[in-house]
Amino acid sequence: MPETLDAGIDATRLQDFCGQRWNDELLPLLEAYIRVPAKSPAFDPEWETRGLLDHVVQEAADWARRQPLPGLRVEVLRSAGRTPLIFFELPARGCDAQEAVFFYGHLDKQPEFEGWRPGLGPWQPSYDGTRLYGRGGADDGYAIYAAITALMAVHDQGGAHPRCVGVIETCEESGSHDLPHYLQALAPRIGQVGLVVCLDSGAGDYERLWLVSSLRGYCGGRLEVQVLDEGAHSGDAGGIVPSSFRVLRHVLDRLEDSATGRLLPAALHCEIPADRLVQTREAARILGEQAWKRFRWHCGDDGLPVLPVVRDPEQALLNRAWRPTLAVTGAEGLPPLQSAGNVLRPRTVFKLSLRLPPLVDSAAALAEVQRVLEDSPPYQAGVHFVPDRGHARGWNAPAYAPWLEAALDDASRAFFNGNGLASIGQGGTIPLMSLLGEQYPAAQFMACGVLGPNSNAHGPNEFLHVPYAKRLTASLAMTLVAYARTLRPAPPA
Ligand SMILES: [Zn+2]
Repeated sequence: MPETLDAGIDATRLQDFCGQRWNDELLPLLEAYIRVPAKSPAFDPEWETRGLLDHVVQEAADWARRQPLPGLRVEVLRSAGRTPLIFFELPARGCDAQEAVFFYGHLDKQPEFEGWRPGLGPWQPSYDGTRLYGRGGADDGYAIYAAITALMAVHDQGGAHPRCVGVIETCEESGSHDLPHYLQALAPRIGQVGLVVCLDSGAGDYERLWLVSSLRGYCGGRLEVQVLDEGAHSGDAGGIVPSSFRVLRHVLDRLEDSATGRLLPAALHCEIPADRLVQTREAARILGEQAWKRFRWHCGDDGLPVLPVVRDPEQALLNRAWRPTLAVTGAEGLPPLQSAGNVLRPRTVFKLSLRLPPLVDSAAALAEVQRVLEDSPPYQAGVHFVPDRGHARGWNAPAYAPWLEAALDDASRAFFNGNGLASIGQGGTIPLMSLLGEQYPAAQFMACGVLGPNSNAHGPNEFLHVPYAKRLTASLAMTLVAYARTLRPAPPA
């Protein structure tokens, strides 16, 4: 059971306050948000004339302004040709105002995708037990609402909290390309940052508070192999003209061991820090086979499921968080099956997508991938790798300050039935995190989120796990109070 945490702050009251606010206000707001197809610019070329991003930004900003938080300022920023962004600031209460907490979230969404279960749909909020289904509720519409609610929970008990600033963007799912512009303009107002709270990430399960300790980077491009200027009869040319598909396989084998999935160039790997190894071992102990069982594996005709790359939970988690992986996400030069004739095709093109370990430099990795693939082409075939313009560095959180780790662990035990805090490395990429890590090297990071097992952000049947969201909000409130305790008391007025 929750207990008293601090002079004046009662954990039960904090939890009740957050739970009540979620039921009365936040869930109806998120239902309305889910109904709006506020797709990120990359998925909606008409986003500007459609005005849906402006709409969801306005709704969230108006709601925030109505909340009884003395001194809260909420602004909508909208530079010409750029996506809108919410900036909010709240003065410190009862402690030194120099260092700020920086909240981050986003209101743009992924597109619909297919495969929603009957009765569910991307723009149709619906509940199944404690899950609120629909696009964007969990990724990442809840973030601004949870952040403001956590601050209200602190105020409700007259608690102290540091100065707070918040940035809620609408370009995240398109690679956050408008964000650096706004961050630069806001830098004087953001000032010194002591804690970054990113509410756009994942959780290993719904039974405890999870902190995200690292993210992978990303790079990719098109691998093109051309052998002829026009296709030829495969009976005539086969055995004389090398197949473009075989040449592509050959050069791809320099990048990846096709038997194990291991990427071969050393430049794509980094050493795994000792503390991450310890945390991963603990996460593997908690999750066990759920590390892979949460996927929807295909069963063969014999009823046996497809097996994971490794059947050791610890190695599976390390593969996902700390090792590079390759996916082929598209192809050209291959006709659809019904029009595939017996022809030796002139060219084959693959779209390559690589996830990179947290400490690997993505620009250097991309250059190495290009060198390895284009070096001495077999048969002097036309082998070209055209790198994507966008690539992103991964991120490794700085070592946790003792106060932060203790506060999060206390919160986890208080709000998650006595279960302590756990840490996990995520396999995805949030470009902003490495940007903020560079900009605020002294800051602590609380990267977390509601994207637990099966929550399926980006895919069909995305849901928000409501109890986890409530507990995360209460945990955030507790962390703000704990942070304020580490700062000098406010000088007398
Ligand atoms: Zn997101």
